[in-house]
Amino acid sequence: MARIGILGAGQLGRMLALAGYPLGLSFRFLDPAPEAPAEALAERLCGAYDDPKLLRQFAEGLAVATFEFENVPVTAVEKLSRHVAVFPSPNALFVGQDRLHEKEFFERVGMAVPPYVRVDCRADLEAGIRRIGLPAILKTRRLGYDGKGQARIVSEADVEPAWRALGGQPLLLERLVRFDAEVSIIAARNRSGATAFYPLVENTHGEGILLRSRVPASCATPELERQARAHAQAVLAGLEYVGVLAIEFFVENGVLLANEMAPRVHNSGHWSIEGAETSQFENHLRALLNWPLGHTEIRGPSVMYNIIGVLPNLEHLLALPGVHVHLYGKAARPRRKLGHVTVTAPDLATLQARESALAAVWNANEAANATGTSSL
Ligand code: AMP
Repeated sequence: MARIGILGAGQLGRMLALAGYPLGLSFRFLDPAPEAPAEALAERLCGAYDDPKLLRQFAEGLAVATFEFENVPVTAVEKLSRHVAVFPSPNALFVGQDRLHEKEFFERVGMAVPPYVRVDCRADLEAGIRRIGLPAILKTRRLGYDGKGQARIVSEADVEPAWRALGGQPLLLERLVRFDAEVSIIAARNRSGATAFYPLVENTHGEGILLRSRVPASCATPELERQARAHAQAVLAGLEYVGVLAIEFFVENGVLLANEMAPRVHNSGHWSIEGAETSQFENHLRALLNWPLGHTEIRGPSVMYNIIGVLPNLEHLLALPGVHVHLYGKAARPRRKLGHVTVTAPDLATLQARESALAAVWNANEAANATGTSSL
């Protein structure tokens, strides 16, 4: 039985393991956190990602290793790859960890990105605003997620607070895109170079956190699907990528502007567990093991809602048709992703009816708690 090593033992690791057990795989995790959602499912080593002794112990007997956390140090992945094959490559992780490297890479492979400037000091910010104009958004190049490490600059009055909040570290200033929609593509490439692409996903964010992902995307046209696949293909080929990759785009006047990529399975692909022939998690494992990639066709329309901050009433959700609940075993905390639900249906009209039923239960739950971030 092949054993897969995963750096990071969060919910993505947990869902990878859940996808791998039916295929006869087993898992080992490494994560420094005292509690980790995946540890209920497999052996877990606890300690620093770049501890050489721990990495050697972690690699023992593994068929292949991967990561589910984007901010694993690149040096840890390089050290690990001396003991066992690791995918995606340290270079893919390097590119994905820094918004500047990402944008430069996207441009190199022919993708459009929102206008941006590198900001290393206050003078760069002033010059950047003159070049890009307002409104704009100031972002940390590294370690930002779920809207953290970002500040909007709508007028001159926002410049000083934004600089006070984020200055002193490498930053980027981007034009605030008045997008018609946000979409992502999930793609996979195995070690032989075979590729697979899921249809475009339409995403809704609130305060920088993903609230909802919908498939098929209501804004998707054959032309947008074509653009997204061509871009994903260029990124996969350019990085000689192995595994599942997500790229997020803004749709502006029928054109895709690349926002960022994640060199891993992605929240906007969770719907694929029930909504696609093969889930993103299974396809990531297939890619690592150089197995044939599974079909990515959708089984029908579906929508995924993140459970953020407050746990819903499980029994109420389970009573609803077409509603699939995933809880990650995490303690409730404001703005924390605690789980997700995916609603599936044979057709759009049924999906709509099921979403309305879910909304009624969800909103009653929100009213009872009044502290969570509603994703409905
Ligand atoms: P990010 O961490 O870059 O994915 O940003 C989180 C969310 O903030 C995005 O999904 C958008 O909803 C919003 N956002 C980020 N950058 C921009 C931008 N340049 N223009 C408009 N909205 C943005």
